[in-house]
Formats: sequence, C-alpha cells, structure tokens
Amino acid sequence: MDIIAIKHNDQIFDLQTAQSLGITGEEIAYDNSADALEVIRHSCAHLLAEAIKSLYTDAKFFVGPVVKEGFYYDFKVNESLSEEDLKTIEKKMLDIAKTKEKIERYEITKSEARIKFADDHLKQAVMDRIPSDAISIYKQGNFEDLCRGPHLPSVGLLRYFKLTKISGAYLGGDSKNEMLTRIYGIAFADKESLKAHLEMVAEAEKRDHRKIGAEMKLFTFREEVGAGFPIWLPAGARMRSRLEQLLFKAHRKRGYEPVRGPEMLRSDLWKVSGHYQNYGENMYFTNIDELEFGVKPMNCVGHIKVYEHDMHSYRDLPLKYFEYGIVHRHEMTGALHGLFRVREFTQDDAHIFCTVDQIEEQIIEVVDFVDKIMSTFDFNYKMMISTKPEKAVGDDAVWEISTNALKAAMDKNKLPYEIDEGGGAFYGPKIDIKITDAIGREWQCGTIQLDFNLPARFELEYNGEENTKIQPVMIHRAILGSFERFIGILTEHYAGEFPMFIAPTQVAIVPIAETHVAYARELGNKLIDMGADYEIFDKNESLNKRIRTAEKGRVPMIIVLGDEEVNSKCVAVRDRRTREQYNLSENEFLTLIKEKINEVNF
Ligand SMILES: [Zn+2]
Ligand SMILES: [Zn+2]
Repeated sequence: MDIIAIKHNDQIFDLQTAQSLGITGEEIAYDNSADALEVIRHSCAHLLAEAIKSLYTDAKFFVGPVVKEGFYYDFKVNESLSEEDLKTIEKKMLDIAKTKEKIERYEITKSEARIKFADDHLKQAVMDRIPSDAISIYKQGNFEDLCRGPHLPSVGLLRYFKLTKISGAYLGGDSKNEMLTRIYGIAFADKESLKAHLEMVAEAEKRDHRKIGAEMKLFTFREEVGAGFPIWLPAGARMRSRLEQLLFKAHRKRGYEPVRGPEMLRSDLWKVSGHYQNYGENMYFTNIDELEFGVKPMNCVGHIKVYEHDMHSYRDLPLKYFEYGIVHRHEMTGALHGLFRVREFTQDDAHIFCTVDQIEEQIIEVVDFVDKIMSTFDFNYKMMISTKPEKAVGDDAVWEISTNALKAAMDKNKLPYEIDEGGGAFYGPKIDIKITDAIGREWQCGTIQLDFNLPARFELEYNGEENTKIQPVMIHRAILGSFERFIGILTEHYAGEFPMFIAPTQVAIVPIAETHVAYARELGNKLIDMGADYEIFDKNESLNKRIRTAEKGRVPMIIVLGDEEVNSKCVAVRDRRTREQYNLSENEFLTLIKEKINEVNF
C-alpha cells in the first residue's frame, strides 16, 4: 500500500514536507480513511484546475477546498461552461493523471507570489486573505498553485474521481462580488467506493423529499409567502398530526406535562437568558408600544416562566414540561433547503427541571426514549457529546461539572459516544443524536443539553430537605429535533413508502359508482373512530385512473367498493406493499387495520 502523508500532532504533512522537516509520525496510507480522502480530494481539486488551465488558457483561479460533498474549485474563464463541458474536463484530468506528474512544493515570499500570479486577479484576492508572508506553491507539470497542502506525491495516484456539478458562486460567497464558476467533484482511493458513492447519490436524488413531498402533496413553499416558511398541505398535516399524537401519549406516559409559552417575549428576558447577546443574530425582533420583543428561537424561557409560577420542593422534582414549540430562526437564504433547513419550525421540545442527584437517571431516561423512537423507525444512531463552544455563558468550572456529568451518565450505563469539541450550546454541553438512514446518510436530529447557566441567570430555586433554597438543573431535550426536518428525513428514509402507522392516509377507498359513496363514507368514519385515516377517490374519472392516483399517493391499502361489497358488507383489498389482492368482510378488514395501526407504541 502506498504511503501518501504523515500525521504528526493531528496535522497532516505531505511526504516531501515531512522529509525536509524531518517529521515522523503516523503513516497515512492510500485508502478511504478520512485523512487520506482529505489529501486525495484536495489533490484532485488541483488536478481539476490544471485540466481547466490546459483547456482554457485564460482561466483565473480562486480557491479549491475539500468540502462535505467532495471538493470544488472556483475559477473564471471567458466562455460560459455547462454540464456538457464537465466530460471534456474530466477526460483531460484522466489524461494528465496518466502522465504521473510529480507534485512538488516550494516556498516563496508573498511579494514574489504577487509577481508570479500578476495576471490572475483571483489569486491576488486569495493572497489578500493570507496573513503570513511565506507562501507555499505546489507545482505539477507546468501548473502551479499557491496552497498550504498537503498533497499526494504524484497526480498518478488520482484515478477514481468524478466531476459532479457545475454552478455559479460569488467570489468569497459575497453577492456584492463578481460571479465565478464552481465545479464540484468527488474522489476515492478505489473504484468500488466511487461507484457505491455515485449510486448512493443517485438514490438520494430519487428520494429527495422535495420531489416526493410534491408528488404526495405533503407540503409546499411559495415565493410570495417567503423563503424557508413551509406550508403543510392536508396529507402532510395528517401525517404530522399522527406523529404529534403518538408522541403526546409517549410524553404523558413518561411523566411530562404539556405547557405552552408565548411566541414573542420581551427583549429584557432574552437579555437575562443571554440569547440577546449570544444568539441575537439568529433572532427576529419587533416593537410593541415602544417595547422591544424577540420572536422565540427556543422555548426555554417560556418553560422557565412555567417553573417560576409555583413554589417547588425537592419532592416535586423532576418536573418535565413539553411543548410542540414553534420557533423562528434566521438562516441565510443560501442555506435553506426544503424541510431540512427552514426559518420557522416546530420542535418536540421539553425541559426537565431536576436536582443534581437526578441528572444521571434523567439523561438515561431520555436516551431510552430516543432509542424507542429511533428503533421504531429503523434508524441506527450514535451519540456525540459536544463540549463548550467559543461563544458561551457561565464559568469554566460549571462547564466542566456539567460536561463530566454527561460523560459519567453515559459511561456508567456503558453507552458508547464520540466527542465533538466546541460543539455545545452557548449555555451548556449536550449529547447530539446522529441517525443513519436507509441509504447510509447521517443526520443530526435530537439533542439532550445539560444546563446550570439558565437556572442561575433566572435565579430558579426549590426548597431542599433542610428547607434551604437550592438551584435546580435544567435539561433541554428534543428527540425528533423538529417535525419539519424529521418528516423530511423520514420521507427520504422510506422513499415516501411510509409504514401504515405514520402514512398520511391509511386507506384509499375507491367506490365504483356514485351509489357506493355512502358505504365508502360509513366505512371511512369507522376507520377514523379506530385511529386510522382515509381518503375517498370518487372524482369523475375512470376506475383504473382513480386506483392509479391512489397508488401514486403511496397509500398502503386501497379498497374498491361495488354492488357486491355494499350488499354483503365486504371489501376488495389491494395491498400496495405486498401487491396482493383479496376480499375481506368488513369486520375482518377493520380488525386488520386496527392491528397495523396499533403495532407502534412509543
Ligand atoms: Zn491546494
Ligand atoms: Zn431549551
């Protein structure tokens, strides 16, 4: 196996640099490890630039970083490029790779680099952003690029790559600047991984919740309403409400009380909580009678006000308040993405007020709740403990106590977790739940946050055993995260083929003629009584067309009603999942649906 780089003190050096500086450390092999892919993909970005330069001699280059989707390069050429050109560029990249040009690094001063790249105003813009005076240059064949590296020893190692997308991008992401061309690509260390990745991306496209959401009429967005503000259509709202009802019962069984805080609270309160100072740029503000109000980005303060309403003794704790809390957060327009990233969403939010001694038990109970829900939806998941971020309130000592409390709860119960340094909320450390969907993608959903800060800032207290005032601990937790995001994820996870218990419609009833509609309604109401939902497909269209429409809506059960069914109180069933058709008496049918609906209990 080829060695492509050396890792020393968490920093990766290419072989040439490691050798010249005499650095030794962990050898990074040419494989699909995260460290190796970083080097491979970044080198591939340079190969892309070299190919562009040899095809378009006027090309100017900005930057070519490694990103979540692979890598990209931002550049400028005189002609306008399209998807078609990607093939030509990719072919050129393969040709260059075959020459096995060495990738070599050398250093010059910034003023030398200014002269070297005098005809490239984009590289000059890159240099404006580099504070140091020493600039490292990477050279492969006749192509040179200023770069920190690290890189592969030769372009000959680049074989399993693909250019995936072309788009426009403003210089430095700022819409006031000039528009550049951005080409995205992906690279791996072997053919199979590249193939598997491309298949996954194609599958993800098929499952895109925006596409399926439109086909199934779950939700929509309208420009005149505003970007990032979803509109729930009847089918989507039915599904969401099923989820809400299931979760409501699940919370009640675990001792949570439903509460509800206002949508807007006075800014003075957001100053006490620290949101004003630490989260203000994500909030929306307005004035009412000279007083400034902030639209809530989180539900914590409302629940604190519920807590403050009564005196509490240690015997009352833990107190668990939950709310389907609608929150508003400012997201950049470019970051908005279907239901995954919106500006208004509803969290399945709860706050647990407890004693220090109860922390462990409460954390474990929430983790157990998460497990129940995620395994019901066939999600695998892992947990990450996120520590103190740069912008944070509270003493380091308090942060340490609460971070250690989270770790201790997990360790003691032998629950595996990873650490995300600096990923905590501004008021406390947290456990993030990352789920893996049916096609292997990871999603961040719920969080469990431990907080000593907000109870202190609001001077919350309870009466202890010795009748002294003691400050409670607050646990913030959401399991789905938000209904919007979770339903988006579910849609892609199931490719719209929702299991019966969560499907927007459980049964599609197709009456053959007008005379069968009355029985359809009677049956439908019986379904509603037992907690299922239905839609009658009685449009003035052919029977086959109506059955096809129901199938397109991915309704799990379709029943057809004609004279025979009405007269003998029976139904002709088409099971979409199993593609079976069979006849059942009305009672048998209702029993079957009841069983399927009640299969799931959080
Ligand atoms: Zn580079
Ligand atoms: Zn909270």
